[in-house]
Amino acid sequence: MSSNYRQARYKEDLLIERADSREVEDNPLPKSISRDEAPKIPDLPKHEIVRYFNRLSQMNYGIDTGFYPLGSCTMKYNPKFTEKIGSHPKATEIHPYQPEEMVQGTLEIMYELQELLAELGGMQSVSLQPAAGAQGEITGLMIAHQYHKDNDDERNEVILPDTAHGTNPASVSMMGYDLVEIPSEDGCVDIDALEEAAGEDTAVFMITNPNTLGLFEKDACQISEIIHQNGGLLYYDGANLNAIMGKTDPGAMNFDIMHFNLHKTFSTPHGGGGPGSGPVGVTEELSSYLPIPIVEKDSEGYHLNYDLENSIGRVKGIYGNWLVLLKAYAYIKEKGKDGLEEATERAVLNSNYLRKKLEPHLDLPYRELRKHEFVLSGKKMKDKGLKTTDLAKRLLDYGFHAPTIYFPQLVDEALMIEPTETETKETLDRFAEAVASIMDEDEEVIGDAPHNTSVGRVDETKAVRDSVLSYKMREE
Ligand SMILES: *Cc1c(COP(=O)(O)O)cnc(C)c1O
Repeated sequence: MSSNYRQARYKEDLLIERADSREVEDNPLPKSISRDEAPKIPDLPKHEIVRYFNRLSQMNYGIDTGFYPLGSCTMKYNPKFTEKIGSHPKATEIHPYQPEEMVQGTLEIMYELQELLAELGGMQSVSLQPAAGAQGEITGLMIAHQYHKDNDDERNEVILPDTAHGTNPASVSMMGYDLVEIPSEDGCVDIDALEEAAGEDTAVFMITNPNTLGLFEKDACQISEIIHQNGGLLYYDGANLNAIMGKTDPGAMNFDIMHFNLHKTFSTPHGGGGPGSGPVGVTEELSSYLPIPIVEKDSEGYHLNYDLENSIGRVKGIYGNWLVLLKAYAYIKEKGKDGLEEATERAVLNSNYLRKKLEPHLDLPYRELRKHEFVLSGKKMKDKGLKTTDLAKRLLDYGFHAPTIYFPQLVDEALMIEPTETETKETLDRFAEAVASIMDEDEEVIGDAPHNTSVGRVDETKAVRDSVLSYKMREE
C-alpha cells in the first residue's frame, strides 16, 4: 500500500462526511470484494473522535501504564528503540518474494540472529521459522518424530512433569503422541517417577527449567541421562530462558531441541496473544531436520536454503515473523553478553525480593529460593470466604495488573508472579504494600472488586464461551 493511498484513507474529512452520502463508485477494489453500500460510520467532528479514542486508550492497562506481574508470560518493558527499528520502512516494506540480492541486509540480520541464539542456547543450529513458543514445541516434536522414524525407532510417548505449561500437553496431543505425566517431588521432577516412566516408548521428555514454579531443576543432567539411556530426546521449553541466560544454557544441560520465546526473553510487546516468534535450536545430530528455509552464508552472500536433507518442511512463510526477529536482534545487540546476563540477575533478584516481601501475607509452597518468578498460594483468602481471584480483582483497584492465577495447577489457589528485570524496588514495594493492605480489608470490599475500573467484574467464562466479536451500530 503506497503512503499516499494510506494518507487518503485517513483524511480527516472522510470522518466527518455523512455516511449515507459517501461515494463508493471510484473504489479501486474489484467489485467482487467491495461493499455495495458505504459503512455506517458515526457522523462526528474530529475532536470528538480524538477524545473517544483517547478515552478508550486511558481505559486500557499495559506495561507502559503500570506493573504487569503476569507469571509465565514475561510482560517486560520493551525498549522503544526496538519498536522504532521494527517500524522502519526498510524493515516493513520488503516483499517476501524480493530476490535474495535485494534483501542481503535482512538475510544478514537473520543469519546473525541464528548464530547468536545458537550460542545463547548452547545449540548447534537454529531455525527462525516458528511464530511462537507453542509452534516451536510442535516443530520440535516433529523433528523428534522424524528423527526416530529415520532410525526405524518409532516411539509413541512424550513425558511431561505436572508443572508443565498448558501448551506442552497441547502440542503433545496435536502431534498424536501419548502423554505420560509424572508427578513432582517438592516442586521438581521426581527422579524415581521419571525412571519408572522412561522406556523404549519414550520419544521425548519436555520441560522448562527453571520450571513453572520458578524452581531450578538441579537434577537436569541426571534427567538427561535417564532419557538418553532410554533412547529418548530432551526438549527444552525456552520460555524461562530469562532466568538462566548468560549463566548456563540448555546445551550444557544436554537438551537436544529447544525453542526461544523471542517476545518474552528478547522483548516485543505481546499482550493480547501476539505477535511472537519461537525459533527452534537443535544439536548437530538434528541440524538437518530443522524446518526450511535456513539462512546460510557463502562467498557470494546470504541465501535462504530450502534444501535441507532431512527437513520436516515448512512451518511458516519465508522469513518467519521477521519484525519480531529484527527487534530481538536489536535488543540482543544493544544489551551485549554482559547486559543479557545482568537482565537475568536482575530478574532473579527482583523475583526473590518480592517473594520475601509477600511471604508474610500469603503462603509459599516448596523451597524458598526462586528464579525469575515464584508461585504463592492464596489459600488464606479462603479464611475470609474468598478466593485468589478476588484478591486479583482487588489489585486492579490499587492500580496493578493482576498476576497469573490458578496456574500451575498443583498449587492450591495459585498466584504466579513474575516481576521481570526492569521494575524498580519502589514499584515492588508498592505492590507488596497493596497485597498487605488487601489482606487486612473486609470481605465485602474484596469480594465485589474491582470498584475503580472502567468495567466491573465480568463473567469471564461467558466472555470466552459466548464471545461477541463484531461491532454493530445501534439502530437509530
Ligand atoms: C509462554 C509459554 C509457552 C508458550 O509460548 P507462546 O510463545 O505463548 O506460544 C510455553 N511454555 C511456557 C513455560 C510459557 O511460559
